[in-house]
Order: sequence, then C-alpha cells, then structure tokens
Amino acid sequence: MTHPRIEAVPVLIVGGGIVGLSAALFLQRHRVPFILVERSQTGSPLPRARGFSARTLELYRSVGLQDDIEAVAKTAWKQGKFGGARRGRSMREAESLPLADIAKLHALADPSPCELTACPQTLVEPVLRQALQARGGDVRFGWELLRFEQQPDGVTARVRDIASHAEHTLHADYLFAADGGRSDIRRRLGIERQGIDANRHYLNLFFEADLTRQVADRTFSQCEVHNERVSGLFLAMNNATRWSFHLACDPATQQPEQWTDDHLTRLVQAAIGADIAVTLLHRSPWNTRVRVADRYRDGRVFLMGDAAHLMPPWGGFNANTGIADAHNLVWKIAHVLQGVAAPTLLDTYDRERRPVARRNGEQAWLRTDFDARFQIRTDDNAGFFDRLVDYGELQMRTRYGADDTVPTLRAQPGTRFPHAWIEHLGQRRSTLDLFGARYVNVGGAQAPRPATGTAYRVGSDFRFIDDGVTWQSLTGLADDAALAIRPDGVVDL
Ligand SMILES: Cc1cc2nc3c(=O)[nH]c(=O)nc-3n(C[C@H](O)[C@H](O)[C@H](O)COP(=O)(O)OP(=O)(O)OC[C@H]3O[C@@H](n4cnc5c(N)ncnc54)[C@H](O)[C@@H]3O)c2cc1C
Repeated sequence: MTHPRIEAVPVLIVGGGIVGLSAALFLQRHRVPFILVERSQTGSPLPRARGFSARTLELYRSVGLQDDIEAVAKTAWKQGKFGGARRGRSMREAESLPLADIAKLHALADPSPCELTACPQTLVEPVLRQALQARGGDVRFGWELLRFEQQPDGVTARVRDIASHAEHTLHADYLFAADGGRSDIRRRLGIERQGIDANRHYLNLFFEADLTRQVADRTFSQCEVHNERVSGLFLAMNNATRWSFHLACDPATQQPEQWTDDHLTRLVQAAIGADIAVTLLHRSPWNTRVRVADRYRDGRVFLMGDAAHLMPPWGGFNANTGIADAHNLVWKIAHVLQGVAAPTLLDTYDRERRPVARRNGEQAWLRTDFDARFQIRTDDNAGFFDRLVDYGELQMRTRYGADDTVPTLRAQPGTRFPHAWIEHLGQRRSTLDLFGARYVNVGGAQAPRPATGTAYRVGSDFRFIDDGVTWQSLTGLADDAALAIRPDGVVDL
C-alpha cells in the first residue's frame, strides 16, 4: 500500500494578498522556506489601498524592492499628482478643500530613505508576486486551504489545487493566517474580535470612465459628493480613466449590491454630474467598523493583516499595519526555527502588534469625518479632531513595550532606529541598511566591541555623511555607548 506524500515546510502562508505576499518576501530575506497558497489565480482586482507609508517602503527597501515599487508608482497617475480633496454636489461641481501643502508635510516627515508612496494596491501586489517567483518562492495561486489541525510539533493542512481538484497534505512548523477580513482560520480557532461598530456603509464600485478632461487641472485623491440622488466618495485610481466610487447606503433599508448595473451606472453618472460612458468593473460592500482579534496567536498559528484587524480606510492604515505585522513576526519565526531564540520570543508578536492595531483602528475611525481626515477643524468635528494623532507619528514613531509613540526618534528602546545617511563599505547607505538578518550592535566611536556577533562603530565601520549628524545627535548617547538592534531595525527593549 502506498502512503500519500506529505510535503513538509517550515511555514505555510494562507492568503496571497498584500500581507501574505509581504510575509513571504520577508521569509525569503531570512532564508526560511515557505509555501504560500492563494485561492484566486490573479489576486484581487479591487483597488483598495493607495497610500504606502514611508515605513512600509523601508520594509520593502529591506527586501530590495523600493526601486521597483517607486517605479510602478510613477506609472500610476496619468495626469496631475496624487493628493487633494474636493467636495460638492457632484464631481464636476466640487470645490477644492483648503489643504496643507503636501510638499511641506513631506519636509516635516521623519528622516527616512523612503517617502510615502501613492500607488494602487493592484499595481504593488504584482511587483511583490513577480519578485517572489523570480527569487524561487513557492507561491501557489489557484490553491486553497481546506482545513488544518494543530499538533504539538506543527500544523497539518489539507490544501487543494482548484483547477485539477487534486488535494495535498502539508506539514508546517507554523501557519500564517493572511486570509483576509473573513478569515476562516480565525473563525475555526474561535478567536473573537472587539472594536468599534460601523457608522457608515458603502458599496465600492470600481469603474472605468474617461474623465481626463473633467478633472484636468483639478485632480484629487478624494472627492465627496452629495445631491438629492446620490451620496458617496470618489477615490482617484489614475486621475483619468479608472475610479472607485464608494456609494453611501443604509443596509437597514437598502441592498445596493443587488441593484442592476444600469441603475448603479446612473447613480455614478449622477455623482459625476454628467452622462458619461461608465463601465462597472467590480462591486464590493464594506463598512467603517473596527475589529481587532482578541489574540493573534493560537499555538502555531499566527493571524496577520485583515485576518487580525479591520479598520476603515481613512488615513490609509490597514494594509500598512498588516505589512508591519508580517515584518514583526517573520524575524522572530526565523530565529526560533534557526535555534537562535527560544519559542517564547513568539509571544512578543501579539504583545507588540495588537496594541498598534487597536490604536490605528481608532485613529482611522476618528478620520471618518471628511474635514478631520484632511486636518480641517470644524465645530462639528472638534470631538474627533482633538484626539487625532499625526499620521507620521503613528506610522513611524511607535514604541513597542510602552504601547505608545515618541515625539522624536532618538533610539529609544522599542522604537525604530533613526535614519541617517552614512558611508559604509564605500557606498552611500542608510543606517537602516545595517539591519536585517540578525541582531547587530551599533555604537559610537569609543564604544567597546562585543566579543561575538556583528558590530558597527562610527568612524571605523561607517561615517555620517550629512553635516551636523553625529552619534550623539542621532541617539542622544555618549560616544562610548552602544545599542543592540533587532533584525527589524527596532532598538532592543
Ligand atoms: C475601499 C478601501 C480602501 C482602502 N484603502 C487603504 C489605504 O489607503 N491604505 C491601507 O493601508 N489600507 C487600505 N485599505 C485596506 C487594505 O486594502 C487591506 O487592509 C489589505 O488589502 C489587507 O490585505 P490582506 O493581505 O490582509 O487581506 P486580503 O487582501 O483580503 O487578502 C486575503 C487573501 O486570502 C485569500 N484566501 C482567503 N481564504 C483562503 C483560503 N482558504 N485558501 C487560500 N487563500 C485564501 C483571499 O483570496 C485573499 O486574496 C482599504 C480597503 C478598502 C476596502
């Protein structure tokens, strides 16, 4: 009698959305073999996230993809630039909101080798997927997880190649649940979620319409419209032909996902304010609730991304938070698998990342008010406005261990080590480029070298390039001090 072959792999990733793909890239960086299964053949066609924070770009820089993502972002906008907000009876009549100059906001951002990058998720995901495949990653699109069981030494999973119906059994040391907001894995583990209930409901209508002329010289990122026939929000996808219209609806009295294409097309035209040819490509309902899983870990299974937390898109936190989850977990898994760290290290994943999701979820929800979202204080939004925390602070200045942020990055324990340009091995690099694979010890010129491990000292191993930047100005520490930096670039707690 022959036994079916069981494939063994250190990590099984379920879900090939932006978070699962990112987790796979981070695993590759740590040379941890994985299998990724994704039900769909193509990935989601729905344009959702459009803003990738500077910190997220730093994470992609760490896997060599900053340039590729910036290059695809340059192709995303057919005219004008990303940014700006308008409001009115229709897109045609909408007036611009008085916003802070984006260039000035960039200048105030924390020093980084990267910038906030505006690019639809639909263009970023293929870059990640192609890189994974080119680097030999075992990425199985058109495959799905059917069920799984945990044992003390791992997880046994039954997966199916959807086209051939062939079923396979996999044995993984760890399972990453990157299977989205409706995560079946989370449900099977009986993990509940808490949060804030939705106050708005929308039907996301992704459509094509040539509005090049209508928006020339008046491009926007978001345009809120309200008239007697329709209310909702346009999100620009390329400033010319591709758009999302988020049709506001009331689920108690309406079921717009059941409405005909003809009817929805007429509503989109009413929102545009012109009888322009509109081709609906996709529709999907969503709402503004916040949900965070009660725990991110069950034995050898870890939740990440939308499977772990859902939050409204205002402020652009959810995908960025999910990608950072994956980055936080992967080096810990790598160290445990390689025997460098005890399995208890994995408990810090929940401890560090769940408070971030709760905080970002609340911050996203507070931006439900259109003016508050764009930093405009009104009498109506004062209650929300006063609780807003700056986007850059949320994305860049988290302090693990204190469940808080810091006003300035100065190498405080639990924060991302500050960026400065350095010359290292004859090249211009960022301090962040010193980190990645293992713990490293970074110190001032007079700091003693540790007996083992990788150490970098100012002067002998690298020098600061920019005038006025010194070890002391960057870290607030004396020249004989040194710090242990985790592989994720965070100062050890
Ligand atoms: C309108 C809108 C705008 C948004 N804008 C922003 C923004 O500007 N910035 C931001 O940061 N975020 C934004 N978001 C949120 C962002 O899109 C999500 O957070 C992100 O897509 C989550 O990625 P994920 O990989 O966790 O989940 P998903 O993208 O949902 O991927 C999960 C994947 O798992 C697969 N899967 C599920 N079950 C199985 C199974 N059993 N076997 C195999 N595969 C399976 C699914 O097919 C799916 O591809 C927005 C969301 C919406 C709705």
